[in-house]
Amino acid sequence: MRVVIAGGGIGGLTAAMALHAKGIDVQVYEGVQHLQPLGVGINVLPHAMAHLDRLGLLDTLLPLGVPTAELCFFNQHGQLIWREPRGVAAGYPVPQLSVHRGQLHMALLAEARARLGDERVVSGHSVAGFQERVDGRVAVNVVPRDQSTGFEDVADVLVAADGIHSTIRAAFHPNEGMPHWSGNILWRATTRSAPFLTGRSMFMAGHLPHKFVAYPISEVGDDGLCTVNWIAELDRSHFGLSKREDWNKVGVLTDFLPRFEDWVWDWLDIPALVRGADTVFEFPMVDRDPLDRWTHGRVTLLGDAAHPMYPIGSNGASQAIIDAFTLADLLSGTADIDAALRAYDDERRPKTAAIVLSNRQHGPERMLDLAHERAPEGFADIHDVFAEGEREAIAAQYKQVAGFSLPPK
Ligand SMILES: Cc1cc2nc3c(=O)[nH]c(=O)nc-3n(C[C@H](O)[C@H](O)[C@H](O)COP(=O)(O)OP(=O)(O)OC[C@H]3O[C@@H](n4cnc5c(N)ncnc54)[C@H](O)[C@@H]3O)c2cc1C
Repeated sequence: MRVVIAGGGIGGLTAAMALHAKGIDVQVYEGVQHLQPLGVGINVLPHAMAHLDRLGLLDTLLPLGVPTAELCFFNQHGQLIWREPRGVAAGYPVPQLSVHRGQLHMALLAEARARLGDERVVSGHSVAGFQERVDGRVAVNVVPRDQSTGFEDVADVLVAADGIHSTIRAAFHPNEGMPHWSGNILWRATTRSAPFLTGRSMFMAGHLPHKFVAYPISEVGDDGLCTVNWIAELDRSHFGLSKREDWNKVGVLTDFLPRFEDWVWDWLDIPALVRGADTVFEFPMVDRDPLDRWTHGRVTLLGDAAHPMYPIGSNGASQAIIDAFTLADLLSGTADIDAALRAYDDERRPKTAAIVLSNRQHGPERMLDLAHERAPEGFADIHDVFAEGEREAIAAQYKQVAGFSLPPK
């Protein structure tokens, strides 16, 4: 069986390695000529890490980041609303990893090339289209960036891992248009900073749409500092969105810092963290509506091409990784390729659609909104704000939706 994958992002590269490990012949085409370590922080949840462990990748990936030990919610006054252990501290067999997206991407690229061969992970080649052939296979139209002549690569399966602006998804949904924007903007950056809380804590503070998230993505160095990834979020719907989102768009401090100027707590000075950043990137909170079908004959969707979602709950990369392994397991277990692709659609589409929709309701961060509604000036005792078991129920429900509940002990 030969599988062509359009897109060499985290989803496409993971799928390539998972399929290759099953003995399947794989070819990846990535549109960008020179892949760079782009982005800022990203999280990989333990159930996705467990899949990467199946490929023996943890020794390579874990040193790149920080095993997250806890997730905390605070109000804008720095008061603790909720704290829960994460990763190994919560009882999972493998960690949750907080890591620089670019470093994770580059490590997966190097591994994929080492395992499959350089010629099987080709950059500077875009998938421009495809045709279903009478023999049931797919002719994939590949266009090199260097203007040399395009060519056709015939495969048994074409996997669209070509991101939120997927060309292949657009071929099935020509009228879908631009992604859906929530009206919020995220300003994202990293800052060298002293560690806070446990030194492995991820926190969300404030409420939507006036929120701040931070977590370390490196261990503490000899200088006593670690790299902290942070995200400030505000409602900017009144400004509109002038053009398509871009992960590399540089943001301006004065657009958001004044709204966080008094967020100075005894355990962290948010304005100082923001001012210490290298480059701040600006990104709109976008997703797309869930689809009623991913698989069309021998073509299917994966990762952000299939289910772009708001970056809430650490699910963007995690769900792409789970897609990849699910697809590889199903394709390797049968000679009936069509049935395997339908089974992949049946298995992954409803689950990821539930996360997309839950993230539109702010996922577990609903707890922040409730705390703000009920106690905007803060509280003396969190038990005056939430009923017994209410916070636990919100946290547990999202873990169930995202598929990483621990079985009862
Ligand atoms: C440059 C960049 C920076 C990002 N930074 C962050 C971040 O800081 N934090 C975060 O949470 N998420 C970030 N993301 C998103 C995150 O990586 C994804 O949500 C998640 O990893 C799922 O990945 P994916 O492989 O499905 O999609 P993507 O990561 O979007 O990868 C899709 C790949 O397909 C390629 N491609 C597109 N069209 C074609 C085509 N026609 N033919 C061939 N190749 C094509 C793209 O160049 C890209 O490499 C970033 C994505 C990108 C592309």
